[in-house]
Amino acid sequence: MTTEASATLPELDRIAPADGQTSTRVNLLGLTLGQMKAWFAELGEKPFRAVQTMKWLHQRRVSDFDQMTDLAKSLREKLKTLAEVRLPTVLIDQHSADGTRKFVLQLDGGNSVEMVYIPEDDRATLCVSSQVGCSLACTFCSTARQGFNRNLSTAEIIGQLFLAERLIDREVVPGRKVTNVVFMGMGEPLLNFENVVDAAEIMMEDNAYGLSKRRVTISTSGIVPAMDRLAERLPVAFAVSLHAPTDALRDVLVPINRKYPLVELMAACDRYAQVVPHGAITYEYVMLAGVNDTDAQADALIELLAPRASQAKVNLIPFNPFPQSDYKRSSRNRIEHFRQQLKAAGINTIPRKTRGDDIDAACGQLVGEVQDRARRQQRLERMGLVEVNQGVSTIRESEEGPE
Ligand code: SAH
Repeated sequence: MTTEASATLPELDRIAPADGQTSTRVNLLGLTLGQMKAWFAELGEKPFRAVQTMKWLHQRRVSDFDQMTDLAKSLREKLKTLAEVRLPTVLIDQHSADGTRKFVLQLDGGNSVEMVYIPEDDRATLCVSSQVGCSLACTFCSTARQGFNRNLSTAEIIGQLFLAERLIDREVVPGRKVTNVVFMGMGEPLLNFENVVDAAEIMMEDNAYGLSKRRVTISTSGIVPAMDRLAERLPVAFAVSLHAPTDALRDVLVPINRKYPLVELMAACDRYAQVVPHGAITYEYVMLAGVNDTDAQADALIELLAPRASQAKVNLIPFNPFPQSDYKRSSRNRIEHFRQQLKAAGINTIPRKTRGDDIDAACGQLVGEVQDRARRQQRLERMGLVEVNQGVSTIRESEEGPE
């Protein structure tokens, strides 16, 4: 799909050094069809060339221009000098026994983000990151501890989907596709609005990934004005990180609540529900033992959601603990009890299935560990305690102990 508003070239992908890139070529992964057509027009090429290129890239995952055989040779030569297809690099690839895979991806400028692939019988969900770090300081979130570093470009967001489909096709089930994308990795998607919307548009583009708007979910901590802009621009499926039924508690858990309190957030949710597919919004609620999981809090949550129960789905998420976090995960019984209470009040409530138990870690934790290791590495290098072999350095076990 194409919208007038997006038919201009994104500055970030064009003037690359803004996000730490060194190349000034256009990374074609970050262009919507409208932008691709505009770019080809600048080269004096017909719009259908943009359609062909989109298909090579996103449907066949071909990144080498020489392999795009139905493009004229002269065009391929132009693309080689002016454009590129640059992907994140896989730093860590963790496999779970149930098929879940968690990746740490390195971006230009040395930053890394996480991505998770979750296969099920009838679908395959990819959880993508939209920012390096996060500025929102939610107290139960591991990514928050890193602070905010930068926004991902559209190409870096789409690069996650491209990479996941390529890896799954080659290593898991040939031809298997990602059927659902959720913006529930690192970062606040609505604070990287333009790049996230362009990425969602490419995900939904028939000549690219062709996902329906029900299958692309944006999750937000509640950036109210951006929720209205999204409703207008691209009303994809929507999830809100609620986590508390009262302002007093939400002010602590999700500090952006002090700026956009519950009354404003819920009004924005009601407006969004008018345009969202099937009219339902998912309310995420992380279960923190003794903090937000009591019977009284379930009652308060019912009071908040009952007036909009036909447009609400609650997702109870067991808290994923991480080092230096003071919170504890609610017991399975407590989560079930809380769920029954909401259900009895007519609120559709589903506990989030725990997947990848054996690699279960809070989102952002792996990247934190990579950063800690890099810092320790630098410290050891300064102290002359590591050997560097062909660019790969190994820590001397006698000095540091086994990893
Ligand atoms: N910033 C966006 C999306 C990223 S987080 C948002 O706030 O919605 C995706 C979901 O995971 C959010 O609901 C978030 O609150 C939740 N989450 C964050 N840290 C968690 C943890 N340690 N355990 C369980 N869920 C967590």
